[in-house]
Amino acid sequence: MKLLCEHCRREIAKIYRKRLQIPLDHTMFDSKDYERGYPHPFRGVMDWLDFHCPYCMRRPMISQFKIMTDEGWVDLSTEEDKIKLMCQQYAKKQRKSAKKRVVKS
Ligand SMILES: [Zn+2]
Repeated sequence: MKLLCEHCRREIAKIYRKRLQIPLDHTMFDSKDYERGYPHPFRGVMDWLDFHCPYCMRRPMISQFKIMTDEGWVDLSTEEDKIKLMCQQYAKKQRKSAKKRVVKS
């Protein structure tokens, strides 16, 4: 499977689904083709926030929970992450509706 840059859509790394986990780090990515001389895309970069696409120089993934591949989107969030996100969204909604109630009265 190949990692695609979300901005320029070019192939930048070889990935193996089993190796991927949160937090992402450079050891989960390989050169897209060592034999043709492509270097390791993120060698030595420990934090995924510092990853750069070698073509457009932007961070290839907007969120570490969802990455774009040549086989489609891969969702890396665990059930726990999903529940946390749902709770945050619910709390936000509650705060918004509480504000509306204050304005009305
Ligand atoms: Zn790019």
